[in-house]
Amino acid sequence: VNEELRCIGCGALIQSEDKNGLGYLPASALQKKLENDDELYCQRCFRLRHYNEIVPTSLTDDDFLKLLQEIGEQDALIVNVVDIFDFNGSLIPSLHRLTGNNDVLLVANKKDILPHSLKVGKLTAWLKEQAKAQGLHPLDIRVISAMNRDDVTDLMNEIEDYREGRDVYVVGVTNVGKSTLINAIIKNASGEDNIITTSRFPGTTLDKIEIPLDDESKLIDTPGIIHRGQMAHYLEAQDLKLISPKKEIKPKTYQLNSEQTLFFGGLARFDFISGERQGMTAYFDNEIDIHRTKLIGATEFYERHAGELLKPAIADVKLVRREFSLKGKSDIVVSGLGWINVPERAVVAVWAPEGVDVVVRKALI
Ligand code: GDP
Repeated sequence: VNEELRCIGCGALIQSEDKNGLGYLPASALQKKLENDDELYCQRCFRLRHYNEIVPTSLTDDDFLKLLQEIGEQDALIVNVVDIFDFNGSLIPSLHRLTGNNDVLLVANKKDILPHSLKVGKLTAWLKEQAKAQGLHPLDIRVISAMNRDDVTDLMNEIEDYREGRDVYVVGVTNVGKSTLINAIIKNASGEDNIITTSRFPGTTLDKIEIPLDDESKLIDTPGIIHRGQMAHYLEAQDLKLISPKKEIKPKTYQLNSEQTLFFGGLARFDFISGERQGMTAYFDNEIDIHRTKLIGATEFYERHAGELLKPAIADVKLVRREFSLKGKSDIVVSGLGWINVPERAVVAVWAPEGVDVVVRKALI
């Protein structure tokens, strides 16, 4: 971080280390601007000014708390964007407590990834149950694909109905597709020039992006929040692309005997320790190679083949083992990577990179 240099757009300190952080400007661009005595804009503000394009940023826990507090003091509609494919990884801790009495509309994004046979009604009921378990009682739940124009139009109409003249704050953790959605909203609402304005959250260096909705109210985009248990937090942008599904995932079912192991590239491992031979279905990006092997010797197998036969893999990653004894039919989720549907009465172990959340939940499908 360069102590004296600040972006004149958002006020963030200019830095060249963290691409996703506030105030990022590549070192080469920074040098050029300094040599030419140009105005300093961070990359995000630059792209915003020139291309009307939102570039995702992320912020720290402290800044995030300040931000939620500010939102809690407003009379507003809160739109919380989550990733259906990574519901647990999308949750904002204690959102309901911090946002005061404001109404929350839960927008579940990336529906295009899930098997199309899954009905929206069933999905919505499942999301409602999951949200409730987290203490969230949204006004409504809307399932969308931010990449689908019609979905975005319908969502905007719904927001218009629910907001009742109030401002709208859009919040979400990083990687749920919030920028994609905001960009789509801007495109949809365009026709006028300069419809975006930026301003600062008081008391912070954080920029917020304001899109006027009418003469009195606006839609406000907030920076993404880092959820550390997400796989995305541990991957470079390039690797993240490899594991983020872009189209409908094709579930794969394996008839497994006890003492068999499945590898999901070099990123995760699933051991079926004991239980009757049965079918287990894996929901992961189609590009991730799945390998079956014997449990005995699986660790050596991993050491020999990670990054080659087992790909993609992250360099120098340590897989940590977690064991589960399951009574009912459940999903075991590796946050941001995918999940395995496991039938009842099975003892299993899941190995995932250190720090990445592994959770058991009621089966989605
Ligand atoms: P943000 O960090 O929340 O602003 O997320 P981004 O908008 O940068 O999106 C994160 C990743 O999810 C990108 O690779 C997007 O292309 C992808 N993405 C966003 N929306 C969708 C969607 O509706 N469907 C699919 N399949 N991918 C999406």
